Amino acid sequence: MTTHILGYPRIGAKRELKFALEAYWKGESSEQRLYEVAQHLRQTHWQTQLDAGMDLLPVNDFAYYDQVLNMSTLLGVIPKRFRQTPYTLDVAFRMARGRAPSDDMVNCCAGHADPSSEQASKADYAGAMKKWFDTNYHYIVPELDEDTEFKITDTRLFEEVTEAIQLTGKAKNIKPVLVGPVTYLYLAENKGTAIPKLNRLPALLEVYSQILQRLAEQGIEWVQIDEPILVLDLSDDWQTAFKDAYESLTETPVNILLATYFETLGNNLDLTCHLPVAGLHYDGLRGAHQLKDVIANYPADKVLSLGVVDGRNIWKTDLTDAARQLEPAKTKFGDRLWLAPSCSLLHVPVNLEAEVNLNPELKNYLAFAKQKLAEIKLLADAVDGKANEEALQINRQAIEEKAASTLIHDAKVQARIATLDSIALDRATAYAERTKGQKAKFQLPLFPTTTIGSFPQTQAIRQARRQFKQGELSETHYIAAMQAEIHEVIERQERIGLDVFVHGEPERNDMVEYFGEQLDGYAFTQFGWVQSYGSRCVKPPIIYGDVSRPKAMTVSWSQYAQSQTDKIMKGMLTGAVTMLQWSFVRNDQPRETTCNQIALALRDEVLDLEAAGIEMIQIDEAALREGLPLKQSDWADYLRWAVNSFRLTTSGVKDTTQIHTHMCYSEFNDIIDAVAKMDADVITIETSKSQMKLLDAFVDFDYPNEIGPGVYDIHSPNIPTVEQMVNLIQKAAENIPVERLWVNPDCGLKTRGWSETEPALTHMVDAAKVLRKQF
Ligand code: GLN
Ligand code: ZN
Repeated sequence: MTTHILGYPRIGAKRELKFALEAYWKGESSEQRLYEVAQHLRQTHWQTQLDAGMDLLPVNDFAYYDQVLNMSTLLGVIPKRFRQTPYTLDVAFRMARGRAPSDDMVNCCAGHADPSSEQASKADYAGAMKKWFDTNYHYIVPELDEDTEFKITDTRLFEEVTEAIQLTGKAKNIKPVLVGPVTYLYLAENKGTAIPKLNRLPALLEVYSQILQRLAEQGIEWVQIDEPILVLDLSDDWQTAFKDAYESLTETPVNILLATYFETLGNNLDLTCHLPVAGLHYDGLRGAHQLKDVIANYPADKVLSLGVVDGRNIWKTDLTDAARQLEPAKTKFGDRLWLAPSCSLLHVPVNLEAEVNLNPELKNYLAFAKQKLAEIKLLADAVDGKANEEALQINRQAIEEKAASTLIHDAKVQARIATLDSIALDRATAYAERTKGQKAKFQLPLFPTTTIGSFPQTQAIRQARRQFKQGELSETHYIAAMQAEIHEVIERQERIGLDVFVHGEPERNDMVEYFGEQLDGYAFTQFGWVQSYGSRCVKPPIIYGDVSRPKAMTVSWSQYAQSQTDKIMKGMLTGAVTMLQWSFVRNDQPRETTCNQIALALRDEVLDLEAAGIEMIQIDEAALREGLPLKQSDWADYLRWAVNSFRLTTSGVKDTTQIHTHMCYSEFNDIIDAVAKMDADVITIETSKSQMKLLDAFVDFDYPNEIGPGVYDIHSPNIPTVEQMVNLIQKAAENIPVERLWVNPDCGLKTRGWSETEPALTHMVDAAKVLRKQF
């Protein structure tokens, strides 16, 4: 049986690529050095696959920045503003980064240079960045303009193919990977042109066919063409585009393996099965409930590559079970059944062996990219009737141990989850009523001003946290340092004249990690990095077991902060959905259950904060929208449990305790009713860059509760003027009753410096004062 993978993590086990890129960008190392590191990584990754017994090696899964950007440069889709000079790797970097480096809020507000932000005024702003389907990976959106002309431009693909052939000595073992023409066009955006995207398909296919031709001349037999949009709900014209595209590519002298992943094919099944290509890769995990139909409908004389090892998660595969699932496919396809992970391994960390500090029991339940290669091989041998019984037995043992493990399963948590039905999810009193009590109690002016939570994380703060973690700073000293910091930001807020204060989150490195570290059921790796975009990586925590809260997590900080001021101090928590969304989640129970366990832990925290005298509590749900399933038909169910987890977190408080939530980097049109059901007393959102356009969804819906539309773009070092902010708030006030408007920045300020933050917030407070005179 042929074994292969769709792609390997490119960043390197020790993030070598990240460091090489950043050194190069800073001018600290040469282009030559960057090439050497990159080449070494490619060779290492191919060698790892060879050693693991993979039959086909992917090429062009490597990228200096992003695989979609690879396609853009290969196809000559270079935005006009970068076309003046001949193409070089630096041009690609400029397409991705503009000329200036961007922020580092990797989680959420991904810190990219958005063309609508201040960068738009610069001649060479970076391309927009979007999430790759429902992953946390971001790609550079291809830009099509009036003069876009598809033409092979970047020849790196062919050079890397040569490099791989030199390594293996055999071209037929090399499988170049391309983003498919239809997916590429679908993800591209028109820029100052009205040419319908699909009109460009024939010209685009012309170049794809030249590329395939050239690969064939290099001796290549198989090319993997990724068309993940086949798992989306497609309109007729896009379905037709698939037929046209692959009809036209039948002429080319290579075999095409069409790859889909992340979901079922839904009603694109028939279309996909009839496309004139040599084979299909199908995600047997996320597409599990259509796997039978795929096996039944895919033509028996073609190749079917099945992904039954999870490319999106870090759990060991149950190989015995997987082998059983593959049997019908083996019977039908024989040698034409291929085996691979479900999708590219880009989305998992590189090597579990590096994790020397992980609990050995937990470690025994995990598999990272390298370990997944071994799983593929074991599985292929098992299905081929050459099973390595001993290895399979060890795997079975791990799977059984996990199912019974008390590390994973906590009877107390499960007992509590079983009582969920008895907890009311509604607040005791409806917003329209309870707001009266809140208004009477807080006595805030019109247009109350506040911030989203974090304040600039200075060098000193980061250093203190690091030293504490490494045991170089005692707990007493650490607490004193953080309290001093909190005290200082309170003084600053007093000077600035804000109405509702925050403690500034100096004790938090990351809004998910901070809570995960204090919850049972969460584990952290040392090297479990996953690329988020360019050189940026995240290290998602692992939710391995039933989640509970051994003790209060934020109360002492908030209590201290409140003791330092008469102003209202907002408590600050990360919501359950966001905790889930930015972690690797266990796969042995529904996400809904895991989410509810986190929500219960947060519910206790909320009640503890309230008991400690904190009267406003903000629960951030930055990732609520990101969690939306790829298929529209699954949205309602997701939104139901996501919203309910928020209500479970918050419903226990008194009427006069005010619940805030914050969501950034979000569009609300299609989820506004769900957001309204969350019933937060106040929601703060990111609106400044859209000139309040994002507010329309709230206005059209008649959103009933209070809103703080962001009036200042925290991604930019620019200091907004009073007038700019007055204008924005006035815009909001045209459509939203002023009694329900708050004034705040778009998001937290941790990536900013004080030199911008203090004047910007002062202007914001002045803007609120101007407005109070007008209303
Ligand atoms: N409270 C968090 C902060 O201010 C919110 C961050 C976010 O929404 N991403 O940093
Ligand atoms: Zn935010």
